[in-house]
Amino acid sequence: MRHEVVIAGGGPTGLMRAGELALAGVDVAIVERRANQELAGSRAGGLSSRTLEVFDQRGIADRFLAEGQVAQVTGFAVTRLDISDFPTRHNYGLALWQKHIERILAGWVGELPVTFYRGREVTGFAQDETGVDVQVSDGQRVRAQYLVGCDGGRSLIRKAAGIEFPGWDASTSALLAEVEMTEEPETGIRRTPTGTHAIGKVEYEIKGGEVIYKKGGTVGLMLTESQVGNTVEPTLRDLSERLIADYGTDYGIHSPSWITRFTDTTRQAAAYRDRRILLAGDAAHVHSPVGGQGLNTGVQDAVNLGWKLAQVVKRTSPDSLLDTYHAERHPVAARVLRSTMAQVALMRVDDRIEALRATVSELLSMDEPRKRFAAMQSGLDIHYDLGEGHPLLGRRMPDLDLVTANGPLRIFTLLHDARPVLLNLGEPGGFGITPWADRVQLIDAKYDGMWELPALGPVTAPVAVLIRPDGYVAWVGDLTQLGLADALTTWFGPPTAA
Ligand SMILES: Cc1cc2nc3c(=O)[nH]c(=O)nc-3n(C[C@H](O)[C@H](O)[C@H](O)COP(=O)(O)OP(=O)(O)OC[C@H]3O[C@@H](n4cnc5c(N)ncnc54)[C@H](O)[C@@H]3O)c2cc1C
Repeated sequence: MRHEVVIAGGGPTGLMRAGELALAGVDVAIVERRANQELAGSRAGGLSSRTLEVFDQRGIADRFLAEGQVAQVTGFAVTRLDISDFPTRHNYGLALWQKHIERILAGWVGELPVTFYRGREVTGFAQDETGVDVQVSDGQRVRAQYLVGCDGGRSLIRKAAGIEFPGWDASTSALLAEVEMTEEPETGIRRTPTGTHAIGKVEYEIKGGEVIYKKGGTVGLMLTESQVGNTVEPTLRDLSERLIADYGTDYGIHSPSWITRFTDTTRQAAAYRDRRILLAGDAAHVHSPVGGQGLNTGVQDAVNLGWKLAQVVKRTSPDSLLDTYHAERHPVAARVLRSTMAQVALMRVDDRIEALRATVSELLSMDEPRKRFAAMQSGLDIHYDLGEGHPLLGRRMPDLDLVTANGPLRIFTLLHDARPVLLNLGEPGGFGITPWADRVQLIDAKYDGMWELPALGPVTAPVAVLIRPDGYVAWVGDLTQLGLADALTTWFGPPTAA
């Protein structure tokens, strides 16, 4: 069996990665342990503004928006950060459980030419100069040019590749469950000497920014444990005991559909690549779920690597392009790790931490810190280091409403097929990129509005921008085209001979 790329793991990261590769015409297969996309428990609770933009860049944001609830869910520790004044079409987060996010993503991937090997797992691999032999648990061997480990925090791919996973052991542990209760529980957050706990309902509505739970229905629990390092599978009895200890009653808890334990173990792969092996999502970074960044970071890893890997597989770019994946995405996750560690520290129950929490909240109520932290937590401030220049360089391209000779056009519409764009907002016909015309779309357009970036504020209007398929700006310039040929070669391969 042969495929150009094999992805181990079809969670959110693997699905997005497969979609991106299929869009670029790569023969890609996902090997997924689960027999179907169903997920035990609800897991991640939503999508950040930048992930919604990323989905919008592929024309699929509406599928998620139709099922989730738009709300100001961006936050830092216990402080809610309002982003409604941010210059983005998606100036909010989307509350939507991971089980629905995965179902919708799998629906999209199902429309693309992606091969699924479900109900089996990758058990090992051997890489050589020309490819990777991937061993699958059903005894098959699949030959691929590249193997991408999107197989979660306990990643076999990462371990088998011998990639170090340095970081910090857990400092806190919590039970997470979905259960039924005969009595109506007290919902919301409660702090006790053991730590912070939360009770909510799986089904809810958001009205006027407030979460409204109906009476009855499945209850979601997050109960901090009194000690770290418990390795025995948690049971209904553990939940009942914790509730009695921290709430004085177990509310008649029964019929759990899911019980698990999570910790704030914080680790990051030392390298995202070992020759023909690449890591993404939880396989590359794990941290506390506080702040809700895990799934979002994984999906954005996938979008950063997808087009690069496609170009290398199709031989339009050299293999070295893949090194920019680690260079760009490792610092992003390192910052996520740092922010989650800070948030975990702020959640501790201790009078001095209480004072610190109040101080940080006060700080974040000021406009400048709110904007900075909100841009970080919503993924809108990501800045890849592409050198000195215009503030747009290495930052996300805003989804502006353009005017073209053929009528109005949104920038994100140009990215639906994951193809790069050279956008000329100056003199029409001023650019010639014939040697890259097979890879890069050249669009002449006009835009008369303000140019504003989240947290940075207004920036000078550029004459022309080169936009990568992941929506980040690779070059900003004018009709002199200074540096354009280099940028085109760096990102989209050498020119085609006439
Ligand atoms: C309680 C909780 C709350 C969270 N809340 C949020 C939140 O609000 N926002 C957010 O962004 N993130 C949140 N997260 C994190 C989020 O769930 C993860 O970051 C996300 O699932 C990572 O996606 P992934 O695809 O990288 O890995 P996973 O979702 O772990 O997917 C890995 C996939 O690989 C498969 N697999 C594993 N090993 C193999 C193998 N050897 N061969 C084949 N298949 C294999 C697994 O079956 C699985 O489908 C939360 C996590 C938890 C636990």
